[in-house]
Order: sequence, then C-alpha cells, then structure tokens
Amino acid sequence: MTKVVTTPDELRAARAELTGKVALVPTMGALHDGHMTLVRRAREIADHVIVSIFVNPLQFGPGEDFERYPRDLEADLATLAGAADLVFAPEVADMYPVLPPRVSVTCGEIATLFEGAIRPGHFDGVATVVTKLFTLTAPDVAIFGQKDAQQLFIIRSLVEDLNLPLTLEAVPIARADDGLALSSRNIYLSAEERKAALALSRLVRAAEAAAPNTAAVLRAVADNRADLDWDYTAVLDHRTFAQIDESFSGEALVMIAARVGGTRLLDNTIVHLRAGE
Ligand code: AMP
Repeated sequence: MTKVVTTPDELRAARAELTGKVALVPTMGALHDGHMTLVRRAREIADHVIVSIFVNPLQFGPGEDFERYPRDLEADLATLAGAADLVFAPEVADMYPVLPPRVSVTCGEIATLFEGAIRPGHFDGVATVVTKLFTLTAPDVAIFGQKDAQQLFIIRSLVEDLNLPLTLEAVPIARADDGLALSSRNIYLSAEERKAALALSRLVRAAEAAAPNTAAVLRAVADNRADLDWDYTAVLDHRTFAQIDESFSGEALVMIAARVGGTRLLDNTIVHLRAGE
C-alpha cells in the first residue's frame, strides 16, 4: 500500500514509522518512465521508497512555465501504486508558509553558469527545496537523474559542502525509442517540434561516437549543424564543470540545451576522453 501525505507534520510522522534504509526520490510529478527508473533503483537499494511530488515555485523564474507545468496527481499516484511506500504531495502553502522564505539556500558560482545563466535563481530554488525535503524525510539515500547534470552536480556539492547525512545515487538518462531524453516538458512539443528536438540526442550520439578523442569530441560539438536555437553546447570536466580544451584527458560531460518552439530541452552524456588519440 502506498501512503500519501500532504503536510510536513504528516510526513515526519510517517517517516518515523519506517525502519531500515530509506530512499527519497524528489520529483515535480507528471511522472514518466525516466522518473520510474529512479523509483525502481530506489526499490533495489533501500527498504522503503519515498517519492515527493512538488512543483516548486522557487525554482521557476518570472515568465517561466510554473503555472502551466503539467500536473496530474491522480495519474502519478496510480503510477506509483506499489512502487513507492510513501508519497509526499504538498501544496505550496504547506512547503512555504512564508513565501518567499525568510531563509533559503544560496549556491555559489556554479549556479550562475549554463542553466543558471539562463534561469537566474533556479538552482538556489532547487537547493532550498531539496534541503527541506532532505530534512523532512531524513533519507539514507536520495536518487537523482543524470538528465539534469548540473542539478546533480549542485546537489552533490550541497551534500558535501554542508555535510548532509545521506548519500546520493545517480541514474542514467532514460530515453524514448527515437532517442529523445524523457521529460515532463516533452508533452509541450508538436509532432514537428519533436522531430526537430531529435537534434539534441543526435548531437549526444555524435559526441559519443567521436570519443575518446578529445579534439574530435570538441569538434563534433562545436561543428554541429542542427538548425536549433541552442542555449549552450559545452564540453566540461565532469569533476569540476570547467570547460575543457584539447589537452584534456579524463571524464568529460557533454551538456547541451536548446529551445524547440517555446520548450527548453536538455540533454547530456558522459564520455571518457584521451588527449591526442
Ligand atoms: P523532475 O520531475 O523533472 O524535477 O525530475 C525529477 C527527477 O527525475 C530528477 O532527478 C531528474 O533528473 C530525473 N529525471 C527526469 N527525467 C529523467 C530521464 N529522462 N532519465 C533519468 N532521470 C530523469
């Protein structure tokens, strides 16, 4: 049986009854199979699975899609039946009796780059809600998708820098059969836009095919011919998020974002590179 709670007090009470290893999967709902790969991983590694469903207003900027972000709690609960033990689905007023909160988490420079440059304040909003969810659920492990690579890096930094008492587990990107990374926002795409959106996964595959040669990967990413409205295409040192050059050897993150119609889409891949090969 999946128990559903909506207030922080109910959540704490339900959490207190759980013994053994607890995994938390934070989501904004509109669940798809990408989310469910996280939930399935949680089930593999923990005794109890908590899923949160909350469209967090703090991580949306003015003019973004907070109001029209897809919400379907009933369908999400049906999807989670049996897969999660406890679902936390609060209203905004449950999470933020005072909005904006008097105290919040502020990230450093990393939160101003790439996604953070396009969405100022986004990662501070993410870090604040994730910190609250960690505090309320006291998980042993929290599970995030590689899909949101910069978010994952920032949450890793949050956990390490603030010594939060949990471990993180990352799950690879789940894709549709045509290669498009699954996302709740894909429902915004028309049939034609969806075809155009495949340029993102094509570029990811081109980068993977060019690996392990660092120069070839940089060239594949820089020379991409897709006629898309790119926000960024970057090749980074996966450990530091610094941009790499041709002399780099190691684990690199190819991270890309584009607008297709009115929809922002993200994709990425991790490649092992060797300079001069
Ligand atoms: P969201 O509901 O978009 O905030 O996503 C909740 C969690 O699911 C985040 O950790 C995401 O990175 C993860 N996620 C979303 N889409 C995918 C996907 N296609 N593959 C793997 N994880 C995903």
